Amino acid sequence: MRLKDKVAVITGGASGIGRETALLFAREGASIVVADVSEDAGKEVVAEIGKAAGRGCFVRTDVSKAADCERMIETAETAFGKLDVLFNNAGIMDGKDDDAVATDEAIWDRTMAINLKGVFFGCKYGVPALRRNGGGVIVNTASFVAVVGAATPQLAYTASKGGVLAMTRELAVIHARENIRVNALCPGPLRTELLMSYLDTEEKRQRRLVHVPMGRFGEAKEMAQAALYLASDESSYMTGASFLVDGGLTSAYVTPE
Ligand code: NAD
Repeated sequence: MRLKDKVAVITGGASGIGRETALLFAREGASIVVADVSEDAGKEVVAEIGKAAGRGCFVRTDVSKAADCERMIETAETAFGKLDVLFNNAGIMDGKDDDAVATDEAIWDRTMAINLKGVFFGCKYGVPALRRNGGGVIVNTASFVAVVGAATPQLAYTASKGGVLAMTRELAVIHARENIRVNALCPGPLRTELLMSYLDTEEKRQRRLVHVPMGRFGEAKEMAQAALYLASDESSYMTGASFLVDGGLTSAYVTPE
């Protein structure tokens, strides 16, 4: 087992990448705190972990609220005694997020509050818990759009993910000598609820796939495998990295026919 006796907090753990990561980390021996605004789906993930003889608990968390993030970290320590892995993964992509002219200020603010401030709050309360543990790992979910501009405008989302990537690098440098590693997972376009509800027609999906050399969307399970590598000791010399798992998207100038 690659995470035997570890304790992991996973935000956005009720769906998509977070859900698959919670199930995988539990199979690899970790106890899991599933933190999400979505209560029913989050509890369902915990039930599934339990059915497979794993350990997990749910804590309703809105990552844009400081008090919720504080409670989420406290839950790891009270329920399982410590924190080893913090996966700051919760995020939104608003359907009305657009270019600079069309994006409402409220959508900008909400996107930043969840995608960017949520990662800050996770670290604000998570870092002291990792220190109490003698070290640990933080994985922040950014995106390929933190590295290249998207053809379909989603300015607030893109800016928020750029912030996550920059914050990851600085966190990594600041905490490197405290035995805390911090890396960013940068997924390409995935076949999850978040993107499929945004690309809601076949035409829009095909438009996006033009940019992916592999010619398909990634799967949440494939991101969970990448997160497992970053969370485990196998990546012990890796910190401050932008770990791109994107079907070749960011390497492509022209994609194959
Ligand atoms: P998803 O919609 O399947 O899951 C996101 C989860 O976050 C949901 O369970 C949702 O309830 C939760 N969430 C939303 N707002 C929250 C809040 N305020 N507090 C706590 N939880 C909240 O999406 P996903 O594709 O699994 O996305 C996970 C992460 O991956 C996000 O940060 C997303 O931006 C990023 N990402 C996704 C893609 C993609 O193509 N799907 C690509 C790159 C990056």
